Amino acid sequence: MDDTIRRACVIGWPIEHSRSPMIHGHWLEEHGIAGEYGKRAVRPEALEDFLLNLPRHGLVGCNVTVPHKEAAFEIIHRANPEGVTALARALGAVNTVWLDERGRVCADNTDVHGFMANFMERAPDWTAPGRHVVIIGAGGAARAVVAGFAREGVARVTIANRTLEKAERMAEELAGIGEAALAAAPLSDLPALLPQADVLVNTTSLGMTGQPPLEVDLSPLPEHAVVADIVYTPLKTALLAQAEQRGLATVDGLGMLLHQAVPGFEKWFGLRPEVTRELRALVEADILKERAGRDGE
Ligand code: NAP
Repeated sequence: MDDTIRRACVIGWPIEHSRSPMIHGHWLEEHGIAGEYGKRAVRPEALEDFLLNLPRHGLVGCNVTVPHKEAAFEIIHRANPEGVTALARALGAVNTVWLDERGRVCADNTDVHGFMANFMERAPDWTAPGRHVVIIGAGGAARAVVAGFAREGVARVTIANRTLEKAERMAEELAGIGEAALAAAPLSDLPALLPQADVLVNTTSLGMTGQPPLEVDLSPLPEHAVVADIVYTPLKTALLAQAEQRGLATVDGLGMLLHQAVPGFEKWFGLRPEVTRELRALVEADILKERAGRDGE
């Protein structure tokens, strides 16, 4: 193996569908960097050995995806507590792993940056003070979105989830992450929450191709509300289409995926890349191709 080439990858179980190699491959080519970015399927029982021995696997770092984000946090936090960022500690999950100058394993959660960077890019006129954000869902992705808005300085975040206890636990656990008041509600309260929502974000898998639809009537939302969906297959979900029809500002999920990749690339390859229209078009074309393939089956 050529030692001058820096190599990173995304790990998950399974991993076939990851688009991270396409994103990082695009940036490597764009900047003429002699690096490689692949994907590796890592079984849960092999995760610890993998993360604590990256150089043996020929790697300078990796992204971590489903189902390993929480387990990777535990493993790296035990091995090198100072190497885990405060944000990742608050979330209890990591998606980006690198080695410091002494070769110690370090980790961060860049989903927060990914969501907020994309949100601010797509809704540039939006400002946080005094705002009430309603989040649908209380899974791993919801944690990153709640943390992002709380740190941005909104007044209130309400987490509406099918399983109320999960939303309550999340509101409690993330209470100290910013100044925002965090509250939990059952999903059935959504219609009553909408008239007071400045931002609505879907963080569940509802509305994704192959999943049940997200059934919500957006008519009670105020006219200035912004509607975001982190689902990106399809690119324009039924939720976003309904919001557009009402003339509301919308933020789609693909930008989060692209922006979360930026900090990792910078750590591994030494250059902060840009999320360009060209990159977005490349990944969009891949999503549409996959869809066409499925429709043709
Ligand atoms: P997760 O931890 O499994 O959480 C799933 C959430 O969806 C939970 O709140 C769950 O509610 C809710 N849910 C699932 N099925 C439901 C149903 N039939 N009715 C009502 N609620 C339902 O998943 P995750 O990791 O947070 O990911 C969620 C979605 O975000 C996925 O579609 C994923 O692809 C997407 N995502 C996108 C990005 C991006 O870069 N754009 C990044 C991360 C994730 P309960 O708690 O009641 O089960």
